[in-house]
Amino acid sequence: MDTVANWAQRLHPAQHQPAGEPVLVLVPLGEVAPELLGALAARLGELLAAQVQVGAPLPVPASGLHPRRGQYLAPDLLRLLRQYLPAQADLALGVTELDLYAPRLNFVFGQAELGGKVGVISLARLRPGWYRQPPDPELLLLRALKEAVHELGHLRGAEHCPRPTCVMHFSHALADTDHKDYRPCPRCQAYYPLRRPGG
Ligand SMILES: [Zn+2]
Ligand SMILES: [Zn+2]
Repeated sequence: MDTVANWAQRLHPAQHQPAGEPVLVLVPLGEVAPELLGALAARLGELLAAQVQVGAPLPVPASGLHPRRGQYLAPDLLRLLRQYLPAQADLALGVTELDLYAPRLNFVFGQAELGGKVGVISLARLRPGWYRQPPDPELLLLRALKEAVHELGHLRGAEHCPRPTCVMHFSHALADTDHKDYRPCPRCQAYYPLRRPGG
């Protein structure tokens, strides 16, 4: 069983930091609207007992873009983020407008190292415009929140959850993301330092 206390302790093993919540840095990979990043950081900070910050944008090398697919390989972005991990970050989540794919997958909404430090989410397929629907900033933010909480769960060691409403459920399509909650189910809650566990 993983509690909030031992999460913080493992991240700061040397000393007790009563006020020292783990630092999560959102890193824009390429150009991302600052308002969206700020709103996402605020929502994550309300949900998680963590200090959520927005880091400096990290330019993405154009050479990584697949010439035919017009997509970026998610593991390449994780490698980039690991290489330029902000010094204060206990965890870093890249946020990008690039459309992502992974080996054997046509696309991914995001990816993260299981039990690692870095993850990434793509906003491309979360935007209603991708599906020729009118812009909806609130919906985009909610979807981004769900994908961010999902990838953070992987960073905390959580695997996919069979409950379709749990944030750790795998999204095959956007309908899966829209169906699930932004919060983990009671079983998956153990992986997160939630501000209000069970609430
Ligand atoms: Zn996943
Ligand atoms: Zn679950």
